Amino acid sequence: MKILFLGPPGAGKGTQAKRIGAALDIPHISTGDMLREHLAARSELGLQAEGFMKRGDLVPDELVIAMLLERTGHEDAAGGFILDGFPRNLAQAEALSVSLGGDGLDRVVVFEVDEEEIVRRISGRRGCAGGHIYHLDDHPPVREGVCDIDAAPLEQRPDDAEDVIRTRLAVYRAQTEPLIRYYQQQGRAVKIGAVGSVGEIQERILEALGG
Ligand code: AMP
Repeated sequence: MKILFLGPPGAGKGTQAKRIGAALDIPHISTGDMLREHLAARSELGLQAEGFMKRGDLVPDELVIAMLLERTGHEDAAGGFILDGFPRNLAQAEALSVSLGGDGLDRVVVFEVDEEEIVRRISGRRGCAGGHIYHLDDHPPVREGVCDIDAAPLEQRPDDAEDVIRTRLAVYRAQTEPLIRYYQQQGRAVKIGAVGSVGEIQERILEALGG
């Protein structure tokens, strides 16, 4: 099954993609995670992407599209995948559609959350270098500032700072939100209410995928 999770930053796409990917045994492909790995490794791509990410802008299409298509071409993605954070504009959506050919994506799950809740979620978000994510109020670690799983220090993503969140939301509204209509016109989009417990939202997604 080829699935796309579409929605604003902080909607819980990554958290759900990890769970649903594990449940369906398909990889979770997050361009944000891939770019952060490049950044941490100081690769050529990471260095090119760094300034855009810090400001909350989109990394240029030619860099992100090549990276994503290389990843979806891996053997582990042959039976399907969950895309999280790609496509983020029309040019990326069309490049994906050309690359998938045929039937394209099976389902596009649209996460609906209002903006105040997004800012609350993102500003409380903390994570460790191993990718384990917490929230200061909703899902705090047992020991403050330390990951429960690998005891690594918890930090805030630099682009989760409030001024950068505002830019990311504006970019989402201008460039990514129009994709909801694009996929609705293709009859692939299913909207889900993305406010509730992680388990409740997971149930809604599984129902949307089954229907
Ligand atoms: P995310 O973790 O999905 O919120 O992505 C973090 C940052 O990585 C974004 O604010 C962008 O700067 C960059 N990024 C991730 N995915 C894309 C994409 N598909 N196109 C352009 N930039 C991206």
